[in-house]
Amino acid sequence: MKNIRYILILVLVAGIASSCKEKLDPQSIFPEVSESLDPASYSFQLDSFCKKNFQEIYNVEFRYQMQDISSNMNFNLVPCTYDDAITMAVMAKYLWWDVYTKVTGSHEFLQKYGPRIICLIGSAGHNATGSVTLGVAQGGLKVTLHALNYIDPSNVATLNEYYFKTMHHEFSHILHQTKTYPAEFRTISAGWYKPNGWEERSEQEARSLGFTGNYGSSQEREDFVEIIANYIVKTDDEWASMMSDAAKGWKQDDNGTLHQLEDDPDGVDGPAVIEQKLTIARTWLHDEWNIELDSLRKEVQTRQANMNIDSLRNQVLTIGTGE
Ligand SMILES: [Zn+2]
Repeated sequence: MKNIRYILILVLVAGIASSCKEKLDPQSIFPEVSESLDPASYSFQLDSFCKKNFQEIYNVEFRYQMQDISSNMNFNLVPCTYDDAITMAVMAKYLWWDVYTKVTGSHEFLQKYGPRIICLIGSAGHNATGSVTLGVAQGGLKVTLHALNYIDPSNVATLNEYYFKTMHHEFSHILHQTKTYPAEFRTISAGWYKPNGWEERSEQEARSLGFTGNYGSSQEREDFVEIIANYIVKTDDEWASMMSDAAKGWKQDDNGTLHQLEDDPDGVDGPAVIEQKLTIARTWLHDEWNIELDSLRKEVQTRQANMNIDSLRNQVLTIGTGE
C-alpha cells in the first residue's frame, strides 16, 4: 500500500517536473486560505456552523469534502453529499461533543483529548475479507467515518452501528492510548481472541464467549473499546438482548447457518464475562478520566430517544447567507 502511494507520488512529481521545466509561474497553485468565510459560497451555512461549534471551541476540523491525500487508498471511496454532511455535523454535536462536554462539565476535556480532525466519507470501506471498515482513528488526532451516504436519522440503531458507536469506539482508543487500561483486563479472555478470522464468528457465538460482538473478539484492545462503545449506545432492550445471546450456546453449520444449542459447550459464562469487563472499564473511566460511564450512557440514551433531526438541521439551514 505504501509502495503504491510512493509510486503514485513519483509519477505525479515526474509529470509536474516535465511540464514545468521551461519557466516556473511564481504564483502559487494553491488557493489563499482565508479565515473569514464567504457568505456567497455554496457551503457557507455548514462552514459557519462547523467553524463556530467545532473549530472555535474544540479546534476541530470537520472535513466533509473528501481529500484523496487524507483518505485510505486501500478502499474505493466516494465523498459524502453536502446534505448528509449537514445531518452528520448537527448530530455529531448533539450526540457526541455536547455529551462529553456536559458529562465532564466543561469544554476542556475534549479540547485536550478529543480528535482534531473528523473526516467524512460517503461510501463504506469494503475489505477483501468481506468485512466493512466503518471508522478509523489515526494517532489520536483524526477520526474517519465511512458510509455517510447511508445516513438515516430516523433509524437510531443504524446511526449507532455506523457512526456513533464508531466514534465512541475510536475515542476510547484515543483514551487508552493515553492511559492504558488495567492489566487485569488482559487475562479475562486471553486465548479466545481471533485476530484473523474473527469475521467467521457470528455475533451470537462471540457473545457467548464473553464479547459484545464478533469484532470485539478480534483482539484485546478492540474488546475493551467495544465494551465501552456498546454500553453507551445500546438501549436497555438491545443490551438485554445481547446478554441473552451471551447466555446461550451457538454453532454455525457448514453452510454458515447459525443454530442455537441446547447447552453452552464453550465453557464460558458469557454474561458474567461481559459484566466483568464492563466493571473494569467503568472503574478505569472513573479513576483515570473522572468520567462516570453510566452518566455518559444516560445522556446519550436520553438524547437519542428525543432527537429531532429537523430542528437540529435548522441550526445550519437558518444561518443567513447574506443573499
Ligand atoms: Zn478499534
